Amino acid sequence: LKSIFWFRQDLRLSDNLGLIESCKIGGVLPIYILDDLAPKPFKMGSVSKIYLHYSLQSLNKSLEEKLNLYIGNSKQIITQLVQKYNIKNVFWNRCYEPWRIIEDKIIEEKLRDLKINCITFNGSYLWEPKEIKKEDGSYYKVFGAYKRKVYSCLPRRPLTFLTSNLLIKDYSNFTELKDFKLISSQSWEKKITAHWEFGEKAAQKKMNTFLQHHLFGYKVGRDYPGKNQTSRLSVNLHFGEISPHQVWESVSSAYRLDSFKNLGAYQEDVEHFLSELIWREFSCYLMTHFRELPWKNFQEKFDRFPWRSADDELFHAWKSGNTGYPIIDAGMRELLQTGYMHNRVRMIVASFLVKNLMIHWNHGRDWFWECLVDADLANNSASWQWVAGSGADAAPYFRIFNPTTQGQKFDSQGEYTKKFVPELEKLPSKYLFEPWKAFGSALQKSEINCSSYSSFIVDLKFSRERALSAYKML
Ligand code: FAD
Repeated sequence: LKSIFWFRQDLRLSDNLGLIESCKIGGVLPIYILDDLAPKPFKMGSVSKIYLHYSLQSLNKSLEEKLNLYIGNSKQIITQLVQKYNIKNVFWNRCYEPWRIIEDKIIEEKLRDLKINCITFNGSYLWEPKEIKKEDGSYYKVFGAYKRKVYSCLPRRPLTFLTSNLLIKDYSNFTELKDFKLISSQSWEKKITAHWEFGEKAAQKKMNTFLQHHLFGYKVGRDYPGKNQTSRLSVNLHFGEISPHQVWESVSSAYRLDSFKNLGAYQEDVEHFLSELIWREFSCYLMTHFRELPWKNFQEKFDRFPWRSADDELFHAWKSGNTGYPIIDAGMRELLQTGYMHNRVRMIVASFLVKNLMIHWNHGRDWFWECLVDADLANNSASWQWVAGSGADAAPYFRIFNPTTQGQKFDSQGEYTKKFVPELEKLPSKYLFEPWKAFGSALQKSEINCSSYSSFIVDLKFSRERALSAYKML
């Protein structure tokens, strides 16, 4: 036994740089440690834990049941293992959560003291966040400039494959996946297993389906929640069941993407999709350079914003999808039923929370963290700050999404809204996003069978003006 490979957010065998390099030396103990060292609001959410359970199960199967599971402090466990088995090398792919960076450094130092090689890789991002800098050495805060910079050094590394089967089981360890106790709610478990397939193979299959059937038309279609036009790869990218290089390379080779020439009709769709992948890079990049991104306003002036209390029934109505605004209720219920929400709807519900209800984005971030299957520290924090207007290169504060017009524009036939808010199924389309108008007209709530649907919890015009005047005071 020569090396340890430590799985973290890279639950795959293919294109797993650290794993493949460790196998070149031979005799590898593949390990996963359950050690959620995140501070309180950032401990893994209920839905993420369920996904992790099934993703680990799938990984273990691909490893022919040789994944060694441990629970506890990573440093202690790794130190014990290297001593017990006289291991010479420890390999892992880097993670970028602020607390993980600090802990990894401590482990590296400990291993160095023990004269053990510690070899780490970038397995989760296309570009190493620390390496992208402006000419003057400072870091980018504007997405457009960052994107131009990274395009000048396109990620072109060959994809790697696991060639040898040199993995070893630690037979003195009896921890099983069920001991991780990742599943705390059976009702959540049922919903998540009904909506998602787990593991590397499922991720590859999903990507291929997206490339064949949904990439064409992505640029426009991605904004319509009723269309099945986005990839839904966020969860696979988060858990590392697929690498961003695999996604990038698949898009490139599928469309012979040399320099975005000769793509014809696909060009805009391909460019737009890759640009979304770069947003993922940018979020992590920002968090690496501004470690407080998950909890602190990037723009300090937002510290003075007069947020309202989140302890009241308005916040509860938002979380449970009972605001009286159909597109918002559809989004919040999609989240509760599937662990996912379409990107356009995420923006609408987030804007409603921070602007119309004036509730701090931290509360929205926490609810998403608890319920999202793709909950990702960098993407979630950067996106909430983007919507709130407090982030780097954020949406301007005066951009307040109107849930009525957003619904009419992006779900005009109500395919999405009626699916998640079935009370409104019989409502004529012209009233779908303003149901109160139907109630005020000759139609009665009971006639259209939507008597259980809530009245709106806040007036849009009033709350918009209230938010704008609060923002103007900053
Ligand atoms: P696609 O449209 O297929 O995009 C491809 C990939 O690009 C995604 O899988 C994702 O990895 C990346 N991507 C797409 N949009 C964004 C974006 N705006 N920012 C960063 N990366 C992006 N995404 C998460 O992965 N985890 C989160 O916790 C998360 N929280 C969010 C919170 C809010 C308030 C908002 C507005 C957005 C959030 N997003 C988050 C970003 C985005 O909504 C999701 O990545 C996207 O909806 C995932 O669906 P998809 O895989 O079908 O995306």
